[in-house]
Amino acid sequence: MSVNIGVLAMQGDVHENIVATRAALARAGMKGIVKQVKTPSEISKLDGLIIPGGESTMIGQMSLVNGAIKTIKDKIQKGMPVFGICAGLILLSKNAKDRVVGKMNQPLLELLDVRVERNSFGRQRDSFEAEISAQQLGIVSSRGVFIRAPSIEGLGKNVQAVSKFNEKIIAVKQGNILGVAFHPELTNDPSWHKYFVSMIKSKTGNNSSRQQNNKNIRKPQSKNQKPKFNTAKLNIASKNQIKNSTKLPQQ
Ligand code: GLN
Repeated sequence: MSVNIGVLAMQGDVHENIVATRAALARAGMKGIVKQVKTPSEISKLDGLIIPGGESTMIGQMSLVNGAIKTIKDKIQKGMPVFGICAGLILLSKNAKDRVVGKMNQPLLELLDVRVERNSFGRQRDSFEAEISAQQLGIVSSRGVFIRAPSIEGLGKNVQAVSKFNEKIIAVKQGNILGVAFHPELTNDPSWHKYFVSMIKSKTGNNSSRQQNNKNIRKPQSKNQKPKFNTAKLNIASKNQIKNSTKLPQQ
């Protein structure tokens, strides 16, 4: 069977997520179509949705204006797997406030039972990369790219914290919702997208074990490592990676 996966294309790094999801499908031995989606009608046909990183207020406002937010909410409530990345995680949350500005008036899906702190690690110049892991998901080592990243503070009882960095929660799972504070699509490692496609596979009835899905994931090198790269290095890396694609906004 073939799955239909959409990347919400209001703003943010859409193309990188399409590429990463296609790589993940190939690694998982799954067939599927991955494309950008905007309209309620496109979203209504999906088996899985990625809400990418970017600027959460902008993505939320645009989704509100064209009615996408309502269809997204309905689909997730009916069990469609969703992967919220950075701004996408913020949009999924029940509560969000900015570390400096505090509570802001922004549309949220209010489905993920967490309180999110926006820009929790600082602003653009404080961006960094670090080694992270999510043992419960079978991801023993991956590189986290944090760009104006949020962190997750209050957890509802059905929410699992699946990864932490410097005592802050940076990835959560609540049933069919996966949310991460960093950008896995800006690395060459499709582990997080591969875990997400395995959620879609389980949901669409074409199940296989997590072990099998993650068999190519590397062994850990070290735990609780400090950020390896300073901001200057990240700027070089991310400029190359983001080149020729939708830019994340400076905020
Ligand atoms: N700081 C952004 C926001 O609050 C998210 C940044 C990102 O997606 N990289 O929306």
